[in-house]
Amino acid sequence: MKLPNYSHIYLEEKAKYSRITNDILSKLPKSKVILIKDYKEIFNRPGQDFQVQKQSPKLILANKKDHFLYKGSDLAPDFGEDHFYYNSLVLNCPYNCDYCYLQGMYSSGNIVIFVNIDDFFQATEEKLQELGRLYLCLSYDTDLLGMESWIGYSKLWIEFARSRPNLILELRTKSANAKALEGCKPIENLILAWTLSPDVVVTNFEKKTASLSARIRAMKAAVDIGWKVRICIDPILDFPGWQDAYAQLVETLEKSKILDRVEQISLGTFRMNKDYFVRIRKNRKSDSSLFLNEFVIEQGAVFYPLASRERLIDHLQENLAIKSNSNIYFRDY
Ligand code: SF4
Repeated sequence: MKLPNYSHIYLEEKAKYSRITNDILSKLPKSKVILIKDYKEIFNRPGQDFQVQKQSPKLILANKKDHFLYKGSDLAPDFGEDHFYYNSLVLNCPYNCDYCYLQGMYSSGNIVIFVNIDDFFQATEEKLQELGRLYLCLSYDTDLLGMESWIGYSKLWIEFARSRPNLILELRTKSANAKALEGCKPIENLILAWTLSPDVVVTNFEKKTASLSARIRAMKAAVDIGWKVRICIDPILDFPGWQDAYAQLVETLEKSKILDRVEQISLGTFRMNKDYFVRIRKNRKSDSSLFLNEFVIEQGAVFYPLASRERLIDHLQENLAIKSNSNIYFRDY
């Protein structure tokens, strides 16, 4: 992803002297910098329009004060790990997927980068000492690898994890930015997870993300130099023509000879926290066909009806089973 063009950067006074702040500002010399007391003044302002701001987002550099780790959600797979956590190094994402839950979670489409990364490292170290082993997802609420060329967080976390084999990191992306990790020796305890979708989904519902073919090329490059890679076909979406689209996706993966070289393939159908869903559907019903389906609510989350989920997962499972010996991990749905 090329360097973004932020017209304005809001900078918290307390974040002014951080080395990360200096690095980022040096890469974005044309942006106008405005000092603020607290990022919430801008980010949590009432009356904002998420999608309007996504067209021309502003950047906010801030210090996170607390909650450096969150318990993993029941809606996300834990891959058999007992201690599944994630962190929020960045709020919001450079991409703009129609189904993204962030548009229901935040009122602002602006991007916040927390620059006090040492506080995140310290909290992670403490949790690791307490639990002995930690599975930590770094890029759930954003796409760190997509932003690597100007924030560099992926590499910093890899170096942090290098001497901590019981810290298992997952870095999830829809970018094609494997190149950003060049020069960084692979470690066993990091898994690069590529979310893959059929071409038609990328084009229609995953705006600004890398194309499917570019993601596959990046994945192959990562495997070639020794990184562990996980394929996430998640969320699987229900739309007219989904059978052919997902069969084609599996076909493309088989042709690229990547299926048996990845660590895992994770499957999951669309699901979302109910409150976020209600907010998003209200705003997106007229401009995204994804929200016109039938949905059901189960334990505070929104899903496709069970029969539809089974059809989607079975179809993928059958196609993949024919083409691959990979260790497929099925989300319980
Ligand atoms: S890549 Fe993920 S975090 Fe980013 S917009 Fe898409 S769904 Fe949201």
